[in-house]
Amino acid sequence: MTKIDIKSLNLEELKELLVKLGDKPFRAEQIYEWLHVKQASGFEEMTNLSKGLREQLQEISEVTNLYMMDKLKSRGGETTKYLFRLWDDRVLESVLMKYHHGNSVCISSQVGCKMGCKFCASAIGGFERNLSTSEMLDQVYRIRKISGERVSNVVVMGTGEPLDNYDNLVKFIYMLTDENGLNISQRNITVSTCGLVDKIRALAEENLQITLALSLHAPNDRVRRQLMPIAERYNMEEAIEACDYYFEKTGRRITFEYSLVEGVNDFPEHAHELAKRIRGLNCHINLIPVNPIKERNYRQSEAGNIQNFKNILEKYRINVTIRREMGTDIDAACGQLRKSFMDKTSD
Ligand code: SAH
Repeated sequence: MTKIDIKSLNLEELKELLVKLGDKPFRAEQIYEWLHVKQASGFEEMTNLSKGLREQLQEISEVTNLYMMDKLKSRGGETTKYLFRLWDDRVLESVLMKYHHGNSVCISSQVGCKMGCKFCASAIGGFERNLSTSEMLDQVYRIRKISGERVSNVVVMGTGEPLDNYDNLVKFIYMLTDENGLNISQRNITVSTCGLVDKIRALAEENLQITLALSLHAPNDRVRRQLMPIAERYNMEEAIEACDYYFEKTGRRITFEYSLVEGVNDFPEHAHELAKRIRGLNCHINLIPVNPIKERNYRQSEAGNIQNFKNILEKYRINVTIRREMGTDIDAACGQLRKSFMDKTSD
């Protein structure tokens, strides 16, 4: 019999489990607090439960924990990258970023990724498996505990396509924002997707207040297809319409991510074309200087071109920021640390 992954149960499910065990539902609240607030790593720590109940729980369920294998701090100290080992020996990465307005944790949603974006390190090793809800939560919990820092923001922008792991992701968001857990504000959570249109529309119906970020990276389908295989499945129009629908339903402004790759999507005419397409939408554009990975020969746009791209968008009165590069000295960009670890171990 496989044991229940108890940290993936929400409070309701935990109550049902306790009733099944012949115990009182209020015990569920105590256990939930142990797991999600005090971050106990096993039942033996739950000292206000009877020994009998702890043994019963131990028999049918388990508390899975991420094991920290490595921790790398960037030179300025504002970014720390964590490499974690999962129960099945697979490896994932998460990042803590310290900003003036609070600390942000960037989590992975899958081990590997199926999406195959050309510039992304996570695409290279292929897909291994989805992360469970508890494995997503635990990235935030472990980083909070190890660093001793408060975590106010969570971005799902690490390895993986979050909407390809939809059910676990949505449960993760509900549990992370549960007042009985860490109680992080939904408005402080961002989910980034390459554009799984059906799932964006489903997310719009969830009644959540999270920010949706769409990885656009191109002003038209022709350029987008060169960089992102998903563009063959859904065209840009459909993806943007789905985002507009998300905005209509939630009132949350959309973020478009645009990684600038020299000579591919960074020409002034691309900026004009992009601006004309998204003008009038309630959105914000995040320009990201592409982080070159050694397996591909994409280069970062020159600083002058990036600035020019931004200026053009601003002429159309579009909200735009250039993402500050943090932690490139520690391979903090998108799957790069995990990738370099895998390279080392496969030699
Ligand atoms: N699967 C999600 C999350 C991916 S990572 C998505 O596609 O949105 C978050 C962002 O970083 C995405 O916009 C992704 O396209 C971008 N990204 C990945 N590798 C990058 C690189 N080497 N340089 C710049 N941006 C990159």
